[in-house]
Amino acid sequence: MTLDAVPPNTTPLTGQLLEIYTLRATRRYGLSAVNQLQHALQAATLAQRAGETPAMVIATLLHDIGHMIHGLGENPAAEGVDDRHEVAGADWLAQHFGAAVSEPVRLHVPAKRYLVATEPGYAQALSSDSVRSLALQGGPMSPAEIADFDRLPFADDARRLRRFDEAAKDPAAITPAFDHFLPLVQACLRRG
Ligand code: FE
Repeated sequence: MTLDAVPPNTTPLTGQLLEIYTLRATRRYGLSAVNQLQHALQAATLAQRAGETPAMVIATLLHDIGHMIHGLGENPAAEGVDDRHEVAGADWLAQHFGAAVSEPVRLHVPAKRYLVATEPGYAQALSSDSVRSLALQGGPMSPAEIADFDRLPFADDARRLRRFDEAAKDPAAITPAFDHFLPLVQACLRRG
């Protein structure tokens, strides 16, 4: 979609998201065969099909927005840099949405460290770029970190988001376009 095709009921935020995802998300997602836009749409579609709440669908759609709002390029892990994109993304989202959107995003990297430490076979199923960034992000959680994570209010949401994230790297997947999700974005906006 070009910016000329933005729907007439676009607000400043939805316009900004359309710009980010249609103009900045077209490069490859890490080392995988999909780009950031396809990855976001696939993940959100999986969340929606799983019957997740609007907040979880939007969190899943926007979980990697931190990759697109910093200046480090598309795949800083390849250069040995942990961009902390989950923190940048969650802080940005918290300006517009409640904690049910921003906090699963903030925890989606710790959730990977959690699942690698607690679930047999999870690490083997990770993509190669996810394995590479795992080391930069601190590796598998320690037992104390696992116990701390389990106490967080959005721990379970973050673990589910993480599974949608890992499953959203299929170059053949068919998804709706980005504007399919804009009514949910509007519904999740923080009021006042
Ligand atoms: Fe992702």
